[in-house]
Amino acid sequence: MTPGPSELYFTAEAHLKTAIRKKIGSISHRSSAFQDIYKHTSTQLRELLNLPDNYQLFFTSSATEVWERSLQNLVRYESFHLVNGAFSRRYRDISVELGKNALSAEVADGGVVDVDKLLIPETTEMICFTHNETSTGAMQPFEDIYRIREAFPDKLISVDVVSSAPDAELDFSKIDMAYFSVQKCFGLPAGLGVWMLNGKCIEKAATLEKDGISTGSYHSVSSYLKKATVFQTPETPNVLDIYLLGKVAEDMNTKGILQIRRETTYKSAVLYQALEASKTMTPFIKEPKHRSRTVIVGAMEEGTNEQVLSKLEKSGFVIGKGYGAHKQHHIRIANFPTHSKEQIELIADLIAENS
Ligand SMILES: *Cc1c(COP(=O)(O)O)cnc(C)c1O
Repeated sequence: MTPGPSELYFTAEAHLKTAIRKKIGSISHRSSAFQDIYKHTSTQLRELLNLPDNYQLFFTSSATEVWERSLQNLVRYESFHLVNGAFSRRYRDISVELGKNALSAEVADGGVVDVDKLLIPETTEMICFTHNETSTGAMQPFEDIYRIREAFPDKLISVDVVSSAPDAELDFSKIDMAYFSVQKCFGLPAGLGVWMLNGKCIEKAATLEKDGISTGSYHSVSSYLKKATVFQTPETPNVLDIYLLGKVAEDMNTKGILQIRRETTYKSAVLYQALEASKTMTPFIKEPKHRSRTVIVGAMEEGTNEQVLSKLEKSGFVIGKGYGAHKQHHIRIANFPTHSKEQIELIADLIAENS
C-alpha cells in the first residue's frame, strides 16, 4: 500500500495471464491487432475520465516524460509552477534544465499555494499545477485551478493528476492538458504514462515547430499526431501495459466511476479519523480541504515511524515511509481503487489503537 508503485489492480493478474496466452508481448506495433488494443484503451479511458472530443490522448514512457514533452512543445519562453513538494518542484526544475524561464510560487511542505495571491506575468505561457502532491499528501482543490483559468483565459493550464486519476473529477473544459502514470491509482506495472491535451495545445506546438524550435523529436506533438490518426505510436511502445490499461479501465467502467469515488471518500475518511484518534500521530495536512483522498500522510515524532511501519507489516500491510526529508517522521498510505474497504479498516484500527 505504498503510493506508487502500488498493489496491482485486483483484475490485473487475470489480464496478464490472458495477455501471455494471446501473445500480446510479441505482436507488432504496426499490426491491426495493436491498432485494436490502442483503440480499446483510448475509448475506455475517454469514457472513464469523461474526456472531451477536442482532446488527444498520447502514450508516453511515464509522467516524467510528460513534464519534458509538455515544456518542449507548449512553452517557448516561460512556464509558471505552483510548487508545494518534490513532484511539483521537479516539473519546475525540468523547465530550468530545458533552458526555459521557469517561474514559481512556492509554499512549505504540507500546504498548497494560495491562488488568490498569485502574481503571474503577461509573458507566462503555461501554468503548471500538481493536483495531488504525492510527496506530502496535499491536494490543490480543482476550484483553485478553475479560478486561475478564469483570471488567465489565454494561458495554457497543465494539471498533474498522476496520483489522483481516475478518482479526480476533473473538468477538462477548464484546463488544457493533464497526465498520469499507470503504477499509481490504476494499479499496473510501471513504464507507461498517458498525456491528454486539447486543440489549443496542438496549435501551440505547431507554432513552435514552425518557428524551428526543437519540440522533442520522436515524441513531439506532431509526430504523435501523425501516428495517432492510424492508432499507432511513433516508437515501439509498451504494448503489454497499453493492453492492461485498457482492460483495467474497462473493469473500472463496469464497476462505475461513481462507485469508485464513493469508496475512495469512505476509505479516506476512515484513515484520517484514525490519524486524528491516534495518540502518536496526526494528519500531516492540517487543512481538511487540502487533504489528499488517495495519498494519506500521517506525521509523528522524528524516528518513530519505523515502529508503525513494522507493526503494520506484521499484519501484512506494507505502507510508505515519508518522502525525502520526511523519511523518518511520516507514513504515507495509498488509498487507490484496488485497496479494499476491509484492508483500510484494518489499517485504521492498527493506527488508532494508541500505537
Ligand atoms: C509518481 C509521480 C510522478 C512521476 O511519475 P513517473 O511514473 O515516475 O514518471 C509525477 N507526479 C506525481 C504527483 C507523482 O506522484
